[in-house]
Amino acid sequence: VFESKIPFSEFKVSEAGLIPVITQDYKTGEVLMLAYMNEEAYNRTVTEGRMTYYSRSRKCLWLKGESSGHYQYVKALYTDCDKDTLLAKVRQIGPACHTGNKSCFYTGLLNNEYKESDPYRILQSVYGVIMDRKKNPKEGSYTNYLFEKGIDKILKKCGEEAAEIIIAAKNQNVDELRYEIADFLYHLMVLMAEVGLDWDDIAAELADRK
Ligand code: AMP
Ligand code: ZN
Ligand code: ZN
Ligand code: ZN
Repeated sequence: VFESKIPFSEFKVSEAGLIPVITQDYKTGEVLMLAYMNEEAYNRTVTEGRMTYYSRSRKCLWLKGESSGHYQYVKALYTDCDKDTLLAKVRQIGPACHTGNKSCFYTGLLNNEYKESDPYRILQSVYGVIMDRKKNPKEGSYTNYLFEKGIDKILKKCGEEAAEIIIAAKNQNVDELRYEIADFLYHLMVLMAEVGLDWDDIAAELADRK
């Protein structure tokens, strides 16, 4: 139910006058980020249709995407039962996170034997880790080794892995084939990250083919 224009004064805010906002991809429901709004940020978001937050670190209004171009177009806004939290469903341009990840929530803390089973999500999540390595290189990381060696090394690996897929298939070895396809996809994602393509670009291309 959409109540027309709840004024900010009806929300339960912090002492600093802020309310937390959970921002989700409107299509997939993926949680992209959490940030805060003050009254002006809320009013601007409602009137302009683009997510505007209040930056607690910079202490100013923050139109998400103002410097990166990674704007968030508001599809819907909700508040919760006790009106102390907002939920925004947005069309996200580019990644939501300043690290280049689609979502800010790419750091796992606890996992009680839960394995992601949706292929697209797994690809997104591995791609997220690869992008994170690119932005924040990690000691001893094979991914960073590939980035350091550069595009020719990455292309060579893609070629090798493709050849290994062919060999495994010729051997009629399904276990080996599964392994080599995963290997190939990983190196393909390193290539995508290197040239600035993400899975949304590939998905859009595939969806356009009839
Ligand atoms: P943007 O609004 O995307 O142009 O980014 C402007 C600045 O806001 C960046 O340089 C980051 O410091 C910060 N920033 C952007 N996105 C996020 C985010 N999802 N979480 C926290 N800080 C962010
Ligand atoms: Zn609440
Ligand atoms: Zn982030
Ligand atoms: Zn964040």
